[in-house]
Amino acid sequence: MSSGLRDSFGREIRDLRISVTDRCNFRCLYCLPETEEASNFYRATRGKQEGEPAPEKIRYTWKPRKEILTYEEIHRFVSIAASLGVEKLRITGGEPLLRHELPRLIQGLSQIDGIQDLALTSNGFSFARHANALKEAGLNRMPFSLDSLDPVNFHKMTGRNGLEEVLESIQLAKRLSFEPIKVNAVVIRDMNDHELEALVEFGRSQGIVMRFIEFMPLDAGKAWQKEKVVSRDEMLEKLCSRFDLVALPQKHAAETAQRWRHADGRGEIGIVAPVSAPFCGHCNRIRLTADGQLRTCLFSHHEHDFKSLLRQNASDQALEDLLVHAVRGKEKGHSIGQASFVQPDRTMSFIGG
Ligand code: SAM
Ligand code: SF4
Repeated sequence: MSSGLRDSFGREIRDLRISVTDRCNFRCLYCLPETEEASNFYRATRGKQEGEPAPEKIRYTWKPRKEILTYEEIHRFVSIAASLGVEKLRITGGEPLLRHELPRLIQGLSQIDGIQDLALTSNGFSFARHANALKEAGLNRMPFSLDSLDPVNFHKMTGRNGLEEVLESIQLAKRLSFEPIKVNAVVIRDMNDHELEALVEFGRSQGIVMRFIEFMPLDAGKAWQKEKVVSRDEMLEKLCSRFDLVALPQKHAAETAQRWRHADGRGEIGIVAPVSAPFCGHCNRIRLTADGQLRTCLFSHHEHDFKSLLRQNASDQALEDLLVHAVRGKEKGHSIGQASFVQPDRTMSFIGG
């Protein structure tokens, strides 16, 4: 089916990411840093000085619950988007597993005509409690985030002691056949770049696809620096000196990850390089924030207010019209690293990665 959602550059929108909450139980320093010090991890990496007081915690102001879209409102939005050609859904956040009765949302969404793929991105910490219900509700895929295999570094990067729980969740997802299991790691210079090879070995031994993501300027601390980005080429050079990797063809033009397989047939890796090798030209994604605002780019400075329309009981036609209009204005691309780049006010935890 040709998409009714085509932007002014000819890109057809097929992929919708929905943030169901802005809250999170982790404090990843590249997303929602726990303290000013963690946010500014240049200082954080020098280690604590003797007699230094504990750094003050940052208090985030979460959106009041009444401003967050209900499951019924999300369902209605997705039905309209699917009727216009959206086929792929990814539920994200914040940490989506913190949202009450999430399987109820998943079950409803999995039954919408036209939806072919339904995934949920999670830090995995509380997956065990919800795993069976999510599977029964019709969830197809479960990508996890895992930046480090070292408990001390894991804590440094996520602000929490949760490595064991996340590793157990990955095993559980395997047992429940949420295949293929993809695990995303944001790679940051001097934080976890020394763990690249170990993460690849982990993926190989577990039959998991590891995907390495370049650090993007979407952190709440606005501490992003180009120098902290480990580029695709740098990651690849490092990995190729250790592993025999063979490039794989793209599955489709809008794929975010470039993929390689191990020459011995045991395993695959991906690199997502929005900073050093932007893929905006084929981007087929739009994002709905937890408070019902549509963003046509991760780096948008403008949002389209669907919450108000949904709450005014607007007609399907009115919702369709706004969606078509919003998509038509989708940005050509981002300008990370250029002098003209301005970091959006909303952070990754709100937009939904
Ligand atoms: N809490 C869930 C999780 O961590 O998987 C879902 C939401 S999180 C915002 C979605 C993805 O965005 C995660 O894979 C996370 O690593 C990634 N992410 C967050 N901040 C990022 C940043 N500044 N640069 C690149 N990726 C980022
Ligand atoms: Fe939470 Fe995910 Fe952001 Fe980490 S990346 S703070 S787990 S939303």
